[in-house]
Amino acid sequence: VSQPNVHELDASKLTYTFTENPREIPALGVTEIDGNTICTDHMITAKWSAKNGWAAPELKPFGPLSLMPTASVLHYATECFEGLKAYRGYDGKLRVFRPERNCERMLQSSVRISLPSFAPKELEKLIIALLSVDGPKWLPRDRPGNFVYIRPTMIGTQSALGVQAPAEAMLYIIVSFMKVMDKPAGGMKLHTSPDDMVRAWVGGFGYAKVGANYGPSLLATQEARARGFHQILWLYGKNGECTEAGASNFFVVWKTREGKKQLVTAPLDDRLILAGVTRSSVLALAKERLADEVEVVERKYTIDEVMEASAEGRLIESFASGTAFFVCPVSLIHHRGRDIQIPAGKSGEGAPITLHIKNWLVDIKYGREDHPWGLVV
Ligand code: PMP
Repeated sequence: VSQPNVHELDASKLTYTFTENPREIPALGVTEIDGNTICTDHMITAKWSAKNGWAAPELKPFGPLSLMPTASVLHYATECFEGLKAYRGYDGKLRVFRPERNCERMLQSSVRISLPSFAPKELEKLIIALLSVDGPKWLPRDRPGNFVYIRPTMIGTQSALGVQAPAEAMLYIIVSFMKVMDKPAGGMKLHTSPDDMVRAWVGGFGYAKVGANYGPSLLATQEARARGFHQILWLYGKNGECTEAGASNFFVVWKTREGKKQLVTAPLDDRLILAGVTRSSVLALAKERLADEVEVVERKYTIDEVMEASAEGRLIESFASGTAFFVCPVSLIHHRGRDIQIPAGKSGEGAPITLHIKNWLVDIKYGREDHPWGLVV
């Protein structure tokens, strides 16, 4: 029930304070300076308090935040975020890909971590407002085929120790440059998660994009990287169900023993995995465009099933999906001392189904295909 003095998040109240020190845009491919991510000239912030609700959002120069050392986020991880890109199309237009999905997911994450709720459409309007200001300069028309990465974030700012839901919070949106995470040469190599570690569990918060899901995953990833792998394939439960690969969703293409080709990925119903926007787009495209060729299946499946399919010559393809690299072929999974080799096309660029899906996504995002998923800014 909304109370008269507790305001909703309202993008139409956005105020504008433009920078007096505009910066140069980085050369193509440059994303960091001394290990610091380069961001655009402006950001949007919006403060919330339990007492007054949402204050008017502000567009202002990009810069540091000021927080008390006692701020809730710094102690109790009251934080959630999103990640989406804006693409400069080959037709010169600027597009975002299904932003309403990210905004809805942000609301789910926020509620899960006791941060305030808001109408997802208002967040979407704020993202578009920031892109309208910074997009033309930072992603110019003469750089088609390039993107910037948008990071909406919410943090609990109340300056009070004590384990409780924060009564003050802040939403902010920044626009950054991100390395082009192209396919690793030869395809992505995954190492299954250590037997004594899980990323998420039933009843937990694996489905939410909260910072608390990421910090604890870094140790296993760091060890796997030191051994020459790119990401962890997170297994769950005593049967070793395949869930996600690093911070991306995971797919296999196999033939059943009856000879039916299937595209398989873990289901969302246990709320173990993040409902990737790319994941849902891959599933929809495969159902729509590959219906004669593959059956699309969302179900629990184990690493033993993947190993059996491989041993019987039925494992055809595998890939990871996410905003960072769209669709990335997986060429190897290392599990308990054994290597599962997976066909990943010529020099790891992707086997046919992987490549088809990737190219369809690229074409939609960069405006080569006119599609309702590509929202023109
Ligand atoms: N799983 C996790 C844990 C992630 O962090 C991400 C990236 N947001 C994904 C999957 C892929 O999601 P999306 O396709 O929405 O980028």
